[in-house]
Amino acid sequence: MRYDTQAVLSGLPDDPYGAVGLPIYATAAFSFSSLEEGARRFATGEGYTYSRLQNPTNRALEERLAALEGAEDAVVFASGQAATLASFIALLQAGDEIIAATGLFGQTTGLFNQILGLMGIKVHYVPAERDAMAAVLSDRTRAIFVETLSNPDLSIPDFEGIAALAEAHGIAFIVDNTFGAVGALAQPLSLGAHVVVESLTKWASGHGSVLGGAVLVRKTDLWQRYTLYTTPDEEGKSLWSTFGPQAYMSRVRQLGLSLMGMVLSPFHAYLIFQGLETLPLRVERASRTTLELATFLQGHPKVWKVRCPALPEDPSHQRAKRYLRGFGTLLTLEVKEGLEGAARLLEKCRLLQAPNVGDVRTLVVHPWTTTHSRLSEAARLKAGVTPGLIRISVGLEDPEDLKAWLDESLA
Ligand SMILES: *Cc1c(COP(=O)(O)O)cnc(C)c1O
Repeated sequence: MRYDTQAVLSGLPDDPYGAVGLPIYATAAFSFSSLEEGARRFATGEGYTYSRLQNPTNRALEERLAALEGAEDAVVFASGQAATLASFIALLQAGDEIIAATGLFGQTTGLFNQILGLMGIKVHYVPAERDAMAAVLSDRTRAIFVETLSNPDLSIPDFEGIAALAEAHGIAFIVDNTFGAVGALAQPLSLGAHVVVESLTKWASGHGSVLGGAVLVRKTDLWQRYTLYTTPDEEGKSLWSTFGPQAYMSRVRQLGLSLMGMVLSPFHAYLIFQGLETLPLRVERASRTTLELATFLQGHPKVWKVRCPALPEDPSHQRAKRYLRGFGTLLTLEVKEGLEGAARLLEKCRLLQAPNVGDVRTLVVHPWTTTHSRLSEAARLKAGVTPGLIRISVGLEDPEDLKAWLDESLA
């Protein structure tokens, strides 16, 4: 099946009534027909027992996400943050190190420094280029972490170089593919990543109505390079000897869901599952509008600078052509009069102002005073966030309305 077909047909379970849509299993527990049946489900992990571990509605979403990302398996979580935490907690031990790209989503940096920091994990932040990452690599490095498209800088990592580095050293290459829109824009697992984490709150749900997240993995034997996975317990069994290549995802599920309880509600799984059905159409339409707006803004006398990977002279254009299936639905503009200009533009703006992306509605945000306001001025400028910068996540409105409203507020 091709991508657009997977978006509407993958993951649908066999239903005793022939339901065409996805049923919502609003149940905490699942009953057994006998002692043997209960014992078998607990021993093998097959079938359902309790919704903190697995639920058929959530499982359908996991199967659809795996199909769309070209993954071997997926586990869904209550939010993107929960998914990122689970992906690392399943891999790390005290004293390990991570190499991460600079300019990450702010809450990811917070999670690394404030939560993983408690475990004695050290994170090196360097640009998402092979040589910069190789320079801080050590025998304690356990993971390399980048985002498909950084925000609001819109830079794209050196996927091939970093994947080769990770492969050569037997280190997990983990990509936050939130901005890759569940494969509609990028499939990092086909670019050499071992693991993808993503927020389903954005393009996947598409309607800005729910939060969700996922961890996805490709088929790999990498986990046998980790002592955490090969060290035997009292019975002489290791995670690798018990689960083989599935060892990583079974630990993600065990730690993130069974023990930490960061569970997605089946109602929300249903909404995200349905959102995915229109994902290819939404991304295609909004991408076309994004290019139209970028071209319009580029020629505007009040605009100093426009960034959009779709523009041929944009610093991200070449990598977008190489690694993405399109150019995405985000652009940034910088107004000529800095903070004051941005404030005046937003005061008069008919577009919705909200700190979200991937919504059906076009959303504008002023990163300097909102999403990035917790960073020092120097850190903001380093991340490409200037006082006059405005980020636009383009939605499905008629492009003529969007141009007219932007023109009106710029005037
Ligand atoms: C939104 C976002 C997250 C966090 O996702 P939530 O669903 O809000 O928890 C992580 N990474 C990126 C790149 C995001 O945009």
